[in-house]
Order: sequence, then C-alpha cells, then structure tokens
Amino acid sequence: LYALLTIGTINAQKKPHLDKTKPTEERINLLMKQMTLEEKVGQMNQYNGFWEVTGPAPKGGNAELKYKHLRDGWVGSMLTVRGTKEVRAVQKIAVEETRLGIPLIIGFDVIHGYKTLSPIPLAEAASWDMEAIKKSAQIAADEASAVGINWTFGPNVDISNDARWGRVMEGAGEDPYLGSKIATARITGFQGDSRADLAKVNTIAACAKHFAAYGFVESGRDYNSVDISNSKLYNTVLPPFKAAVDAGVRTFMNSFNILNGIPATGNSFLQRDILKGKWKFDGFVVSDWASVREMIAHGFAKDGAEATQKAVNAGSDMDMESHLFVEELVNLVKTGKVKETLVDDAVRRILRVKFELGLFDDPYKYCDEKREKATIGNKANNEGVLDMAKKSIVLLKNEKGLLPLKKSGQKIALIGALANDKNSPLGSWRIASDDNTAVSVLEGMQQYKDNQLTYEKGSDLTVGKTTFLDELVFNTTDTSGFEAAKKVAANADVVIMVLGEHGFQSGEARSRTNLDLPGNQQELLEAIYKVNPNIVLVLNNGRPLSIPWAATHIPTIVEAWHLGTQTGNAVAQVLYGDYNPSGKLPMSFPRNVGQCPIYYNNYNTGRPTNVDKNVFWSHYTDVEKTPQFPFGFGLSYTTFEYKNLKINKTAFAKGEPVQVSVAITNSGNYDGKEVAQLYIHDESASLARPVKELKGFELIDLKKGETKTITFTLTDKELGFFDNDGNYLVEAGTFKIMVGGSSDKGLESSFELQ
Ligand code: BGC
Repeated sequence: LYALLTIGTINAQKKPHLDKTKPTEERINLLMKQMTLEEKVGQMNQYNGFWEVTGPAPKGGNAELKYKHLRDGWVGSMLTVRGTKEVRAVQKIAVEETRLGIPLIIGFDVIHGYKTLSPIPLAEAASWDMEAIKKSAQIAADEASAVGINWTFGPNVDISNDARWGRVMEGAGEDPYLGSKIATARITGFQGDSRADLAKVNTIAACAKHFAAYGFVESGRDYNSVDISNSKLYNTVLPPFKAAVDAGVRTFMNSFNILNGIPATGNSFLQRDILKGKWKFDGFVVSDWASVREMIAHGFAKDGAEATQKAVNAGSDMDMESHLFVEELVNLVKTGKVKETLVDDAVRRILRVKFELGLFDDPYKYCDEKREKATIGNKANNEGVLDMAKKSIVLLKNEKGLLPLKKSGQKIALIGALANDKNSPLGSWRIASDDNTAVSVLEGMQQYKDNQLTYEKGSDLTVGKTTFLDELVFNTTDTSGFEAAKKVAANADVVIMVLGEHGFQSGEARSRTNLDLPGNQQELLEAIYKVNPNIVLVLNNGRPLSIPWAATHIPTIVEAWHLGTQTGNAVAQVLYGDYNPSGKLPMSFPRNVGQCPIYYNNYNTGRPTNVDKNVFWSHYTDVEKTPQFPFGFGLSYTTFEYKNLKINKTAFAKGEPVQVSVAITNSGNYDGKEVAQLYIHDESASLARPVKELKGFELIDLKKGETKTITFTLTDKELGFFDNDGNYLVEAGTFKIMVGGSSDKGLESSFELQ
C-alpha cells in the first residue's frame, strides 16, 4: 500500500492533473498547460477500432497508420473497439506509451442494448413508460460498461414523421413532447441522474444525435438534404435536443444532412449559437461518421482543409473518421485560419467528459472481465428486456375476440418465416450481439403446451443471407410453400401469422418507397384468409407500415416491432393474455405511402372540412386523409371510459397553472394499463398552431372495475410556442383541450388565457 501511495504521490507531482482532490476545471487547466498543439488536435480525433490491437501490429494501409497515430498521441477517442481485451490494449497504448498518457474515451453504438437486446427504440417509445425506458438504458449501460465502453452514441432524438426513412426505428417517433420525455429517460438511464453519477463504473456518457433535423431528410431518403421552416426547427426538431441538454447529456453528434443549405457539421448557428451559446452546453460535439469530409461532396468546402476549418469554426469538436483534423488542423491554426482558442475550447470539453467519467483516475476501470462475465446476458438483464418488450407491444385491432388466446383445447396454426426467425427480431443496430440469439415467436408459443401448435412458414421473406451490410435485402417470390400453410390453417381454430419487415429492412440506409408487407407476404395473407379468416396478424417492423387490406379484413392485429432478445416470450405472453397490452403508437400509420409525411400535429388548412358541401376541401380523391392508425392509438384486452373532464377555472392569467382532471374507469373484464393523453389546441395565435399538440400523458394501472381521477397541470411551458426567430411566446386566447386514449378522439373542453 505504501508503495502504491508513493507512486501516486510521484505521479501527482509529475502529472498534477492526476490529483483527484483538485476540482475538474483546475485539473483540465493543469493538463492543457502541458499540451502541445499537436497533442490538442490529437484529442479531437476519433478512429474506428476495426483492427486487432491484441494481435501483431498491423502492417500497411490505414490500420498501420492509425496504430502509429495512437502511439504518437494523435488519437483522443476510438469507436467500435470490440471486447474488454481490445479496449484494454488500446487504452494501454494511450495511457502508458504516449507522452502525456491521456486516456481514450471509448464510444460504441449501444442503441438498444449491448448483447442483451431491448426492443428497437421506436418500439420502446410505444410503451410511453418512462421508468421502463430508463431501466432499459441502464441495462444497456451496465453491459456495455463492463466491456470497456464508456460512451454510447445514443439516444437518437431525431423527430421524424416520414415512415419511408429507415432510421425512424432508432428514434422516439413523430412527437416532440413525447420525444423529449423519452430523451430524458434514456439519458438518465445511461448516465445516471446527476453529473457525479457519470463516474460510477456502470454508467456511460450519452450522446444526443443527430444535431439537427436529420429526421426530415427529403422524401425519407437517408442522407438526403433537409429544407425546413424555422417554425418546424424550433417547435419540432429542437425540443428533444434541449431536453437532452437539460437532462445533462454529455455529448452531441451532428448529422450528415445539410439544413437549409448549410451542412450540420459546418453549422455555426446550430452548434455555436444555439447549443453552446443559448443552451450553455458544456460537453462536446462529435461529428457523424466522416461528415467533416462529406462537406466537400455537399459543395460546402473545396477541400479537406476548408472542411476542417469550417467544421471547427462552427463548433464540431471531434472528427469521427474523416481523418481530416489530424491532417489539416495544426496547419490551419499556424496559418491563422482557425484560432487556437477554438481548439482549446474543443479540447477542454473533451477532457472534461474524460475527467467526469473518472478515466484519469482509473483508465482501466471499465475493462473488467469479472464484471463482464457476471453482467452480460444475466437473468436480471433478460428479465428487464422481456418486461420492456411486453410493454412495447401495441394491440391495433381485436374484433372477433380471438385474443387473448384460450390456454387449452385449441388448434393453433403459426405461419410466416418471421415466426421461426431468431435473427430478425433482434432488429437493426446490434453490432455486439451474436446472430440468432433472439427467442423466436415459435419458441415462445411452444411454451404453452396445452394447445396444439403447428408451424408452417408459408414462404421465405428474404433470399440469401441477410446481414447488416447487405446493400439490398431481396424478397422472395416463391409461393411453393403456400399449400402446406393453407392446409394447417384450414385445420386450425386460430391462425397466427407473423409478417412484416426483416430486422435489416429498417435502420441506417434502409429507406423504402413502399410501406406494404415486403415480398409475397400480402399474397400469403390473402391466401390463408380464404381458407380461415380467424387470423391474428402479428407485425414485425421497424417503421409504420401501410396495411389497408389487413386493416379491413383481418380481425386481429398486434404490432410487435423488432422486440430484441426476448421477442418470442413477450409475444406469446401477450397473445395468451399473461400480459395485457398497453402500448400506444408513437407514429401515425399511413393508409398508403402517398400520404407520407402524415402526422397528427399538422396544421389546419383553410378548408379543413366539407361541412359546406364544397367538394374543393383539402383531401385526396382516392383515399381518406386520416391515417390508418393514429398517433397515440392502442387497444387493451379491457376497455377504458373517460368521464368528467374538468378544468379548475374558465379563465387564467398567464403563468397561472391550469389544472385539467378526468376520471378513467376500467370498464372491461381484465386488469389493465392505460396511457391517458392530453392534447391542446391554441385556437388563434400570431403563428398558426397545430390542430393538436400532446402536452401531457400518464400511464395508469386500473384493476377491472376501478376508477381513478388524474390531474394534468399545464403551465407556460406547455402553452407557448417558438416564433420564427426562436423566441418563446405565450399568447392570450382560447385553448381547446382534449383528453383521451388516442390522438384522434377524446373528451373536449376549453379555457381562456388572459
Ligand atoms: C451513424 C451514427 C453512428 C455512427 C457510428 C453513422 O453512420 O449515422 O448514428 O453513431 O455511424 O457508428
């Protein structure tokens, strides 16, 4: 012990920033005083860790150069380093072989779990259960932090209302209010509730991404440009990012897209004026993968030097894999094109997060094989993701009372390739988890032994191997399995069909122009319906689908997304009524793709209805203008009745809290949970306001026959909006209120704000 203390004292003398008793900001100053310009720029560089450091040193090409850079102190962070041994190896080089021994911050896309996978984020959003979502992020942090990771590139807080965009699976859906609450839940789940919690060994730094407006890529095509109004930017896109800052998020990631002509990575207005200025964010901003270099392709920078200059001047602090800061930044400072104070500011931010994580005090604390063994895939984590998976399921239709299934004496036919798939349910973004590790729906259903279960796939969904990097996922047209499937269906009391998208048909670079059931699944569905219409359709998908035929013909529809490791258990427990579904859609489901973008909080046109029999009202001639399933919608095995909507007064002064109460009764035959939702509409304002805006929700447990009265409180925070210059306004006038179990209907009332 004495020897250790002595070494500690010597270290602290040689490296005074290692003195734990000093405040963080002082430690940063002490370290920065010792840093050369080159070492500072090194901190701003992040490399992907695809080469194996534990093997022989790489020879030739990119990997060799990166390896050399790491030894020479040119690397501040690495991403996607796989496994404890590898992380320890790179950390050892940074800490023990570079001049100043500054530890690396190790990033990874822990998007819905590390190895034990939760549902995809969009599915989790359907739970409207903030505690469960926070818990799910905690499980992810617990596993990831045991294998050396101390920073996740999540949560994705991009609001999007375009189901064509494959990355909606990573977000929280279309609504900024719900999205903000979920951002907070995820960030506090990853990081803990306070900044001090970040030093704990099982918390990791979070990253709000993609800043900003990436969810509004034109026509839903990934990486496309974004052109949106200020109103959309301030009222829809930015609120979840602001909530992330308020929740203490330590990092931001910028985005690939240009926003109104300026790439996000070179966008000073976003990063300097708003994020670091107005919002006083004191963590750091990492670029998205090579997004600094992409500014050349955007036509915003003529070469790498100019791209670097624009990125750093605009407030991008760390370069993910463009390699440009390393190549260009020292020279740009020397020639006066980038001020050294800006480099200092970026480095200070990066070091701050490293100090807060405790990396200087123990650089290897996250590399813990013992904890890795005890944590990864343990019972508690599996129970946690199972709970989250059940809560994410949304019952969309249940007309013939087929659900819940009777537990015995029934013949059940299970059909669809996805029902017997252990890989697809894991969903997109699961870099660390092994293939085929999900409990399939078939396996889940087989646990209920008192019914007779027969499985037939009917047809494959995809041809060939499906991997993350497949450019295209090919759907099969082979119908040779239909006959066998029809046979088991004809013989069954209930047919369960698991159809939808393969896990890799949504996610990054997975945009679609069709939102129907891919391949020949629709054909299969109709063929089975002809022999037995008692169908329970279980959907697997990473985005809203358009299923107009099924919505009309199929009596029972269950939205089961991609639910992660415990998929089959969650689905079976819901189908058998051991869990009463309570999820509500976080995105509108269109009737067809031509309605996209479709979302509940749109504006009124000047011709909102056809009451005056004027045929020239705002509508389509070939399909209703409403969605197939609206935002906030979801059924239960029981029913809920809303009564007695009351507002405590009829008129309020600004700043006075408005209290809205409602009584909710479980009027059906099962205990259940309901998400009560409150929407407002500001009838007339200096800028037109959406027809409805979610401003409150509560998840309540109600026993059969039970009634509870709940109260929502509305303050200036809920009643105002941003004007086109980003000023927050609360204006007098009439506010309509709607409270119900979905965005499309509920009890209504109104009050005056004076
Ligand atoms: C994605 C980011 C991700 C990064 C690192 C990019 O392609 O847009 O969301 O964090 O890769 O994997």
